[in-house]
Amino acid sequence: MPESPEVQALVEFLDERVRGRVIAELDVDEYRIVKTRGRPPGALAGGRIDSMQRFGKYIGFRTTAGWLIVSFGRNGWIRWHAPGTAADDEPVPEVARIALDDGAALQIVDTGDFLAVAVWVVDAPEDVAGIAALGPDPLAADFSADDLERALGRRRKQIKALLQEQTSLAGIGNAYSDEVLHKAGLAPTVHAAELDDGERERLFRAIVDIMSGALAGRRGLPPDRLKQAKVEAMAVHGRGGQPCPVCGTTIVDHVFSGASAQLCPVCQADRVGDGFAGRVSIRR
Ligand SMILES: [Zn+2]
Repeated sequence: MPESPEVQALVEFLDERVRGRVIAELDVDEYRIVKTRGRPPGALAGGRIDSMQRFGKYIGFRTTAGWLIVSFGRNGWIRWHAPGTAADDEPVPEVARIALDDGAALQIVDTGDFLAVAVWVVDAPEDVAGIAALGPDPLAADFSADDLERALGRRRKQIKALLQEQTSLAGIGNAYSDEVLHKAGLAPTVHAAELDDGERERLFRAIVDIMSGALAGRRGLPPDRLKQAKVEAMAVHGRGGQPCPVCGTTIVDHVFSGASAQLCPVCQADRVGDGFAGRVSIRR
């Protein structure tokens, strides 16, 4: 699933190219993605795009005819076709297509087995319930330790799940939560309530470093290279069986509470949460 660094890089790439352009056509191939039945996306044709913005993992096209909001779900993305470069014949799972007045086109695609892309046409981004409920965004310049503290509190919730909860923090998903916890030296199963002050400080620094570092690494790449760049940048996520880049210990796949995480049993062993103790005996 795209997470905020890749979505932000996508938004910046598109904003440079679509700002000021008029939507010539907006065709939906797969109507199940449309969540505002009274306002079909086609109604935005003729609108000029004033800007693009990111809200957590959502993107928004601000147009003179209203906002188009897109949620990519697990396997959604946008394919960009610059003016004069027609879409190739390669079959893609297009769910919608936006044609601009300069000849450029954006294909919204969903490559998953289950359709998960969703689009809304609204007057304001907050009219989408998921956006209105978003927690503070770690990529925001004013994201603070107090913001994280409000998300953590004394909650009896496993920290990996909490990091991915969009109402607590906006934009982090399965991959970056693994990366953050590795950097912070915390097991994914430890409860927020169990973190002491030093661990909270380490977690805050890790969130900011991982998310802003990922954005710096992705910024400027074209949309079709972002996913691979993300995969290549991972230290532990998706790297079960490979050596930890910090200590060389073999990274383990850990399945718990219906979720999975990849972690380093040495770097992340100083705190063990429920279900993790006993599975890993190596301690720092
Ligand atoms: Zn390690």
